[in-house]
Amino acid sequence: KDRYRLVFMGSGGVGKSALISRFLYDSFPLRYKPTVEDMHTTEMSLVGDEAQEVTLELLDTSGSMQFPAMQALHVARADGFVLVYSVTDPESFEEVRRLRDVILAARCSDDDVPVPIVIVGNKTDCAAGQQKVASITAETIVTIDWEHGFVESSALSGQHVADIFRELLKQSRLE
Ligand code: GDP
Ligand code: MG
Repeated sequence: KDRYRLVFMGSGGVGKSALISRFLYDSFPLRYKPTVEDMHTTEMSLVGDEAQEVTLELLDTSGSMQFPAMQALHVARADGFVLVYSVTDPESFEEVRRLRDVILAARCSDDDVPVPIVIVGNKTDCAAGQQKVASITAETIVTIDWEHGFVESSALSGQHVADIFRELLKQSRLE
């Protein structure tokens, strides 16, 4: 397999588009642009036992998720999921919880290989007083209860953004 489709999901405004932009172009968009749906494609070389070229497709969702049929299609076709919340917004963590339930209901069949999911708490650059989702609580739920990858990032500063992709590739056994 040389094509991987990663689907970004999460409440509006948590920073999905900003994370993709930081990863692909190392830039932070200054103007807010509500996404309907964007597919980004990038080539990556992986070094392992054998060098391998893979194409990563990053699907940036938002508006389309209001349509249950579109959501079901994306969930069915993804090779991995990035579920993003903002550390400033506890409700966005609850949305991640709901999205995870939807994904597991659709994708946890009898195949014993779990679909790669990474949960991302974004906007860690925000002032401590604005951070309303405690790191330790989120990390415990994600890594112990759910057994998913967990990354806290800032699309603004770029901190830990690459770790999101590293974690997904690790779970996909690509790296
Ligand atoms: P999306 O709806 O999930 O795609 O969110 P966007 O990427 O469009 O970002 C929503 C808003 O949050 C924009 O005003 C961004 O500038 C801002 N934002 C995104 N990521 C960060 C971050 O890491 N830190 C801060 N402080 N703001 C961010
Ligand atoms: Mg967006």
